[in-house]
Amino acid sequence: MPRVVVIGAGILGLATAYNLAKRGVKDVLVVDRAYLCGGASGRNGGGVRAQFSSETNIRLMRESIEICRDFATEMKINVWFRQGGYLFLTRTAARARDLEENVALQNRCGLPTRMLDPSELHRIVPELSSEGVRAASFNPGDGVVFPWPFIWGYARAAKDLGVTVRPFTEVVGFETRGGRVTGVRLRPTRLSPLDATDEVLPAGDPYTEACDDVVLCAGAWSPKIAALLGLALPNKPHRHEICSTEPLKPWLGPLVADLTDGLYFSQSMRGEIVGGVAVEPVPEGVNQQSSRRFLTTYARALVRAIPTMAGVRVLRQWAGCYDLTPDGSPIVGRVAEPSNLTLACGFMGHGFMMAPVMGRLLAEHVVTGQTSPLFARWGLDRFARGELEHENMIIG
Ligand SMILES: Cc1cc2nc3c(=O)[nH]c(=O)nc-3n(C[C@H](O)[C@H](O)[C@H](O)COP(=O)(O)OP(=O)(O)OC[C@H]3O[C@@H](n4cnc5c(N)ncnc54)[C@H](O)[C@@H]3O)c2cc1C
Repeated sequence: MPRVVVIGAGILGLATAYNLAKRGVKDVLVVDRAYLCGGASGRNGGGVRAQFSSETNIRLMRESIEICRDFATEMKINVWFRQGGYLFLTRTAARARDLEENVALQNRCGLPTRMLDPSELHRIVPELSSEGVRAASFNPGDGVVFPWPFIWGYARAAKDLGVTVRPFTEVVGFETRGGRVTGVRLRPTRLSPLDATDEVLPAGDPYTEACDDVVLCAGAWSPKIAALLGLALPNKPHRHEICSTEPLKPWLGPLVADLTDGLYFSQSMRGEIVGGVAVEPVPEGVNQQSSRRFLTTYARALVRAIPTMAGVRVLRQWAGCYDLTPDGSPIVGRVAEPSNLTLACGFMGHGFMMAPVMGRLLAEHVVTGQTSPLFARWGLDRFARGELEHENMIIG
């Protein structure tokens, strides 16, 4: 039986490991330099939507939302999935045209998305100020989840199927032979496990784990790890900040996203308003520090959109990294060399929602070695070919 090492225990790594084990791969090791939820997967807004501008994303997300719907039953864990819809807004004519085109495409793909007139906008979110709004679209099937139990659910289910999850274990190098990776060099970074079911080796010298296949799911850290193999990736980390308020009585149905300034917010099932806004420029590289500038920019944008939010207290602020690609689409699939390396990175600001379906497809790709049209389209070599896969429904 082949041995698969998955690098990164974020949602992509764990979903892939779980699906590999489900397909009968007995020997799967997932390593992460930090704790589960330490990367973007533990720091995101939990938004799940099928409103995209490319047919590929729309169709994949229809499937992913179905998996989200069944996740609690399958994994025996409550992920607080709530389908209140996504309401996209724009205040510019150019983005209004984009929205209209996207809605037409989404309808052709079977989604019930519709453009909203001002009265419908107010019926769905009465508190929303429509000043300057040029267009809005709404898909009632979109929603939000609580990200952490999603991670824990995949981790526990993968372990139950025999997968080893080893946090606090950093990839520091590779051994290669004949154009293949034969071993992953690992360095333990912490002494004691936080979770008794996690396997954590004592901190110490690097050691090597042999492998037949490697799947790189290290999100914003992927270019740095790929560079250890001499492989250049075009994705770049980009800090995104986010915050949550004190809990309020339930009043907000959909996640609201303004494509003009990158403002987005939703109400969690605990009542908090969770959201963010685009703030430029951001520091270079992976940076997960919070800034005061974000908080003031977000507060102004939120109160402009929802005047009744003035005076509501922020309880918690944090940051994570989007994993940005030049065309807004992920980078997935095997590379030419090393031939047993599969990439799963570059998921922008929508990788959490894509993981349920991508985990299935990645496991199939690793097990069968077959390149489906999707993996051909989203492969690393599209950049060299100049065949970019543009996606314009990016939040933040
Ligand atoms: C503020 C914010 C809001 C977002 N909102 C949404 C949203 O609403 N909906 C949505 O779908 N997506 C959202 N995203 C994006 C989403 O979080 C990511 O696309 C997704 O979590 C990526 O998952 P991943 O598994 O690829 O990466 P990550 O979760 O980042 O996991 C990568 C892992 O690799 C590990 N790693 C790094 N280096 C090494 C090494 N050398 N050795 C071993 N392990 C290593 C890291 O510790 C990390 O745990 C948001 C992101 C941010 C930052």
